Amino acid sequence: MDIWPIKWKLPDLDGLVVYRRMNMPAVIKGEDCTACGICVDACPEGSISMDDVAKVDPDTCIDCGLCVDECPSSAISME
Ligand code: SF4
Ligand code: SF4
Repeated sequence: MDIWPIKWKLPDLDGLVVYRRMNMPAVIKGEDCTACGICVDACPEGSISMDDVAKVDPDTCIDCGLCVDECPSSAISME
């Protein structure tokens, strides 16, 4: 099975190179999200929007995992 991405890019975040690891976009568990907005600011692709809770656009998510690390409620996972 090919675990490498169909699409990928290399955004440069203040020297930190982040790349698409696998085709596993972030998923937010709505019931655990407190709508703090931290993940919206953390996402380098602008893939997270806020409504009542945060929501990821899987078409633009590059699977970098930064939002997973930043969420204080552990509401985000990579699927
Ligand atoms: S960082 Fe976590 S708790 Fe905060 S808005 Fe994002 S998913 Fe919700
Ligand atoms: S995994 Fe990266 S690109 Fe995808 S929503 Fe989280 S911070 Fe944004």
